[in-house]
Amino acid sequence: MSDLGAILDRIGAEMAAAPDRGRVADYIPELARISDRHFAMAVCTADGQTFITGEADTPFSIQSVSKVFTLAIALGRLGDQLWTRVGREPSGLAFNSMVQLEYERGIPRNPFINAGALVVTDAILAGHKPRELLGEILRFLREAAGEDDIHINKAVAASEQATGHRNLALAHFMAAHGNLLHAPDLTCGTYFHQCAIEMSARQLALAGRFLIGAPDLPRMLAPGRTRRINALMMTCGHYDGSGEFAYRVGLPGKSGVGGGILVIAPGRASIAVWSPGLNAQGNSQLGTLAVERLARATGWSVFG
Ligand code: GLU
Repeated sequence: MSDLGAILDRIGAEMAAAPDRGRVADYIPELARISDRHFAMAVCTADGQTFITGEADTPFSIQSVSKVFTLAIALGRLGDQLWTRVGREPSGLAFNSMVQLEYERGIPRNPFINAGALVVTDAILAGHKPRELLGEILRFLREAAGEDDIHINKAVAASEQATGHRNLALAHFMAAHGNLLHAPDLTCGTYFHQCAIEMSARQLALAGRFLIGAPDLPRMLAPGRTRRINALMMTCGHYDGSGEFAYRVGLPGKSGVGGGILVIAPGRASIAVWSPGLNAQGNSQLGTLAVERLARATGWSVFG
């Protein structure tokens, strides 16, 4: 493999010149204020090196990338019992879709669509106050990243709380089917705060190292479980764009509407990319292009 630093420099320059940067999410008002000009990428390799390009130390809203970490906490705490409440199939529908819930009696298709992530948050909220669980999520992230400076942006959480009618509707619908342990506004409020966590690309790549499956890296979960999180990221991590991401990039990834994507090259690296403009499926437009180019340049792919 040629020099990763040089590869990242080249990708950073190409992304700065890219004509189509996608559209910044505007359904959460606080996110709509972010410029589409930002770009950052960070790669942490299995042997402990970190490479960056762009604004890799600027914090951004990780949004649905947080779902990877709450799933890890849920699997660590509940094990396979979690799967009685949420499935493991791609949805083929938008991140906030309601239609499948009706057919599948309040059991969401997978833990990465909003309905599924609400169930995961609801499951790990059991026995805790929202503040305690949010503290646990932050502790998990800080330990995984080896960095303490990771926080929740309260303005983003409040902005989503004020406008998150669809998520509340999903939670109420699941409550009607007996698949919610807490009041919908409690589970949603916790979920909005988890989505409002801010991290830099460097911190996110560091936090993803436990999913690489290499020795000498932080181990947050049993190896069998990290493999399964990778499988779900591959099949469900980009909503109805998951097939396209697998085709173009060939690596497991989880996107967020803040424009971040966490990508894992098993055995090799954890990659974080951030560019706020989104494509039609709500995934970072340039982020996807950048990891596609990285995968091509390095040859990293789970498909050999
Ligand atoms: N907080 C966002 C929502 O629930 C997350 C969506 C995403 O990042 O894809 O709508």
